[in-house]
Amino acid sequence: MIIDDSHYDIIIIGSGAGGGTLAGSLSREGRSVLLLERGEAMEAGWQKRPRVKDEVWFGPDGDPFSPQTFYALGGNTKIWGAVLERMREKDFTDLPLQEGVSPAWPFDYNHLAPYYDQAEAIYRVHGKAGVDPTEPTRSKGFDQSPRPVMPFLEELREGLLRQGCQPYELPLSWSDNEENPVGDAEVCGLATADTGNLEIRYKAKALRLHVSPSGREVKKVEADVNGEIWLFSSDLVVLAAGAINTPAILLRSGNERHPRGLSNQSDQVGRNLMNVQITSILQRSAAPNSGLYARSYGVNDYYWGDKNVSFPLGHIQAAGGVLQDALFAESPPVLSLISKLIPSFGIKRLASRTVAWWAMTEVLPDQENRIWLNKEQIRINYLHNNREAHDRLVYRWIDTLKSVEADPYTKVVTSEPVHPRGEAPLSVVGFACGTCRMGEDPAVSVVDATGKCHELDNVYIADSSVFPSCPSVGPGLTTIALALRMAETLHQRLHN
Ligand SMILES: Cc1cc2nc3c(=O)[nH]c(=O)nc-3n(C[C@H](O)[C@H](O)[C@H](O)COP(=O)(O)OP(=O)(O)OC[C@H]3O[C@@H](n4cnc5c(N)ncnc54)[C@H](O)[C@@H]3O)c2cc1C
Repeated sequence: MIIDDSHYDIIIIGSGAGGGTLAGSLSREGRSVLLLERGEAMEAGWQKRPRVKDEVWFGPDGDPFSPQTFYALGGNTKIWGAVLERMREKDFTDLPLQEGVSPAWPFDYNHLAPYYDQAEAIYRVHGKAGVDPTEPTRSKGFDQSPRPVMPFLEELREGLLRQGCQPYELPLSWSDNEENPVGDAEVCGLATADTGNLEIRYKAKALRLHVSPSGREVKKVEADVNGEIWLFSSDLVVLAAGAINTPAILLRSGNERHPRGLSNQSDQVGRNLMNVQITSILQRSAAPNSGLYARSYGVNDYYWGDKNVSFPLGHIQAAGGVLQDALFAESPPVLSLISKLIPSFGIKRLASRTVAWWAMTEVLPDQENRIWLNKEQIRINYLHNNREAHDRLVYRWIDTLKSVEADPYTKVVTSEPVHPRGEAPLSVVGFACGTCRMGEDPAVSVVDATGKCHELDNVYIADSSVFPSCPSVGPGLTTIALALRMAETLHQRLHN
């Protein structure tokens, strides 16, 4: 075992949306930061691979699966769709869904709004305010306008407008890099880090945290760095390894004093796993497209319900070209389903003849949906809830697509009797959240409203594990905003 000589202000474990953003911000404030990242920095021109091939987790039935998660500098943001949405005001409150009440956060939207502003600026979010009827209050518009979309999508938007829908330009993170312009935690969150204050260790997998005799403070972080075991020390430790690996580290850090794992007297670590329900729906385009283009429009007309029901159904987004979409690569073989329907088409040709949509619906926290450890193995017990609301959204959207196709002025899509669709399977865990939830009551939550572990004096969590509820829009921007808020908290704490 190697004991590192240095002592840092802060050790951050994981460099994704939460950890990468936090490390950039704290290093700019002059804090000495050690960032432990189990992956490597990706070289220019790397191919997007939707999952880590050698990672194996186990599902509810004990069967192994390879999760769609990405271990590299930037984490899952290296493969994300870069749609960075704010949660809506009501998403922060007790919100009745069809199957139960989605719980409130310990603060409201207005508290997080200034950090959303900062997050959009740092991630160079291009968007247009004032179009989406569910948009939360903003102090100002977006700094950057949306980039142009493919012409056939523009025509499709016109077709949706004629059906009474209110499509809006999805807010997207774009960097200045012409070759690979999608923004992520490396090129946005860490880009302006003060490298004099930030040390990054790659291939450094945090294994466990070592506590003081009182059990209240973490003294050392144990990590496997390129096959060797190291011990690192700091004043503060931040877990940002994502909603599966952060609870895994806490559970693995158990000892006689903490038999259930660290900060887990409440038995909440790893529980309440939420993963938004996603169904991909395909439409046939009249002319071929490249299959390689970014996401474009969103539709929130059913976010809070529809003409028949008054509970939330969810969010729709135009998914982007199916040949480059990592999420698509993971969905059940929807394209192979169409290839059966039209056997003369090859997969590439099929992809170029489709327009893909994602329907996304939130789920409720459930104690039994959880990540736990069987010795060193990660196990996931998970069953979606709130399914009927999701089905309603899917059928509502297919009806809308049919009306668009029946409109003689809309020529870019063809009328089809069937719209192939597929639900994202368990391995698509990229939107996971909730496994170390935030709350005022230590009996039913893991961290307090600032992100500090209730049972530990110097450990914080800065990733999507802390979400008390799971919005129907992506969790990325909220994770980034929470990290920026935490940067302020930690800076002040070290100052005092
Ligand atoms: C294909 C895909 C598309 C997505 N599209 C969108 C989208 O368009 N919009 C949106 O809002 N969200 C999207 N998401 C979700 C979004 O990427 C996540 O919500 C977000 O990245 C979560 O941030 P995080 O900091 O919690 O974790 P991550 O970004 O996953 O970061 C975790 C980091 O911790 C590292 N790590 C893990 N374990 C250890 C360890 N033991 N030691 C050291 N390092 C460790 C990982 O390598 C990684 O760098 C998408 C996800 C996927 C997979």
